[in-house]
Amino acid sequence: MTAKLIDGKKIAQATRENLKKEVEELIEAGIKPGLAVILVGDNQASRTYVTSKQKSCKAIGMESILIELPESITENELLQHIEELNNRDDIHGILVQLPLPKHISDKKVIETISPEKDVDGFHPINIGKMMTGQDTFFPCTPFGIMEMLKYEGITIAGKNAVIVGRSNIVGKPMGQLLLNDNATVTYTHSKTKDLASCTKEADILVAAIGKAKMITSEYVKEGATVIDVGMNRDENGKLCGDVDFADVSNKAGHITPVPGGVGPMTITMLLYNTVKSAKNKLNHRNQE
Ligand code: NDP
Repeated sequence: MTAKLIDGKKIAQATRENLKKEVEELIEAGIKPGLAVILVGDNQASRTYVTSKQKSCKAIGMESILIELPESITENELLQHIEELNNRDDIHGILVQLPLPKHISDKKVIETISPEKDVDGFHPINIGKMMTGQDTFFPCTPFGIMEMLKYEGITIAGKNAVIVGRSNIVGKPMGQLLLNDNATVTYTHSKTKDLASCTKEADILVAAIGKAKMITSEYVKEGATVIDVGMNRDENGKLCGDVDFADVSNKAGHITPVPGGVGPMTITMLLYNTVKSAKNKLNHRNQE
């Protein structure tokens, strides 16, 4: 392996240490940051994510409440729960774990969360703010990747960034955040013709596809920074990314591992956004 490893676990830990201090300061000022997580139904993967988010909140001294609702809940009932949380003073962040049962509209749910408490950064108002270069809650996965690049001192301005994947939660906001920092951005997806010819132009390559080890060294320029968002199982059932790590790490300049790369930073930025929301609340209170 010749590439430098970007250690997401280490960067996440350093960021969480700072957040812990900010939480202490907020508590002293009379505000304990609180995150509410809504889990609908009994999806095992969702439950694992939610448990991990709650543990991480507690570890930095934040409050975290879990609202578990049955799969059979109606859309209206769910929206009412969100409204209640919007009105609660002790809750600064609201997260509804996706995916939701088919009879509930993701769009309606996301749009019901108050933009001031939308710590996932999925509300159209917050997406619009991000697109127009305003300060807001950025979606946690791409935001975490930006923090990793900055921590490693990787230059973004003027670089060619290529994103593989255009989902609303990862690919699209990833490109926007890189553009905001003056990268030249190319989005690619399943309809892209000759993907490798695009990705080989990348100084910064982000793979957010959901296809185990799809990105081999043929897709990568010598010395590129390769960020692997994918969380897949390989043929032996082992967790792996979208990047063929063993192959690409001999060609890339920097690379993130899976696990221990983007994943720990995603949860960290959820904590960051919730602390930010509590700080906003304190600022408002001080101005009153
Ligand atoms: P989606 O399934 O929503 O999007 C996948 C994207 O990849 C789509 O835009 C799709 O194109 C594109 N794609 C699929 N196949 C190809 C192909 N052969 N060539 C080029 N592009 C392709 O996934 P997400 O964005 O939600 O997640 C991506 C991966 O990241 C998953 O493995 C997920 O588990 C992981 N993930 C990890 C997180 C973390 O914290 N580590 C957080 C969130 C996600 P098209 O639009 O044309 O269909």
